[in-house]
Amino acid sequence: MRRFGALLAALLLAGTLAACGGQEAREMQTTQIFAMDTVMALRAAGGETEAALQAAEEEIYRLDEELSRTREDSAVSRLNSAPAGTAADVGTELYDLIARALDFSAATDGAFDITLAPVSSAWGFTEDAYRVPAQTELDALLAHVGAEHVHLEGEGSVSLDAGTRIDLGAIAKGYASDRMAEIFQSHGVTHGIVDLGGNTWVCGGNLEGEPWQIGIQDPARESGALAGILQATDAFAVTSGGYQRYFEEDGVTYHHIIDPATGRPAESGLTSVTVVADGTVGNGTMCDALSTALFVMGEERALDLWRSGVYDFDLVLVTADGRLLVTDGIADRFQPDETAGYAYEVVS
Ligand code: ADP
Ligand code: MG
Repeated sequence: MRRFGALLAALLLAGTLAACGGQEAREMQTTQIFAMDTVMALRAAGGETEAALQAAEEEIYRLDEELSRTREDSAVSRLNSAPAGTAADVGTELYDLIARALDFSAATDGAFDITLAPVSSAWGFTEDAYRVPAQTELDALLAHVGAEHVHLEGEGSVSLDAGTRIDLGAIAKGYASDRMAEIFQSHGVTHGIVDLGGNTWVCGGNLEGEPWQIGIQDPARESGALAGILQATDAFAVTSGGYQRYFEEDGVTYHHIIDPATGRPAESGLTSVTVVADGTVGNGTMCDALSTALFVMGEERALDLWRSGVYDFDLVLVTADGRLLVTDGIADRFQPDETAGYAYEVVS
């Protein structure tokens, strides 16, 4: 089993383009954090840079504590351990995040599903104790999986049906990146890049006045080898891929993104999905939820959702049969890496 925390390698240059407001800045300040099982890198310049980085770090640790389901005292654990059918007070922040998660389930026909927790545990992904469960075991667990088993009771309280437990692993880093954007903006940071392991937010470009370059990992090669580079000055970009966390047994690879229809690792023909949206607070959560969901849904359904206009985003898809697809909204800002050898297509 191998784990690549930082999926989007951020290639950093230095500049003066100001897009997130505040005074002119001369040098970038950097912080590295380990939280949410991920190596995170934050860079900022302009405004109250130091205070911004400090507040950002504290916020990451707070969210790690609140949203983790392996910490007994987290808000998520309080909900998961409450007696079935009784409303637990989870607070408005978690309530709102669960409400959004349920919306993403509805919009993705259930491909995004925070109630897969018992299934992820059965595969050992939560506890780092990998095994291949029997289909009968998975089917029994799947009876408790689905958005219909989560009930918003209003005013910060939520109840779960018997046997249902939630896991926000597919959305927590995206939500954290939204909070990073809010903190940077409120401190007047003019240039910033926040890389929460495959969840990237950029603002303002680098100190040389150029866009940030966001490297998108080639899912078929070693960590750091890229499928391509996206240029952005005001964006969230979130990647999900089966290569991020997996184990092997009897020559078969099992990864951590589960198809709720089967309870098994999703096999949709996609090896990586990157969802890109503008840097508006809220889009980080959306990109994270959608990158996981679209990985499950596969190329056709992913592009259908993109074309539907229900959400405003663009895509970089890598397929198992060797294609690299980029939607036309970002094609002029995307440069495929030729050494990766994919057949490159712009989708409209
Ligand atoms: P990562 O957290 O590795 O960056 P994702 O955002 O794609 O990647 O989230 C994967 C995590 O989300 C899994 O480890 C698991 O906890 C949970 N999960 C797995 N499958 C799904 C799914 N179909 N919908 C929602 N959450 C999922
Ligand atoms: Mg996700």
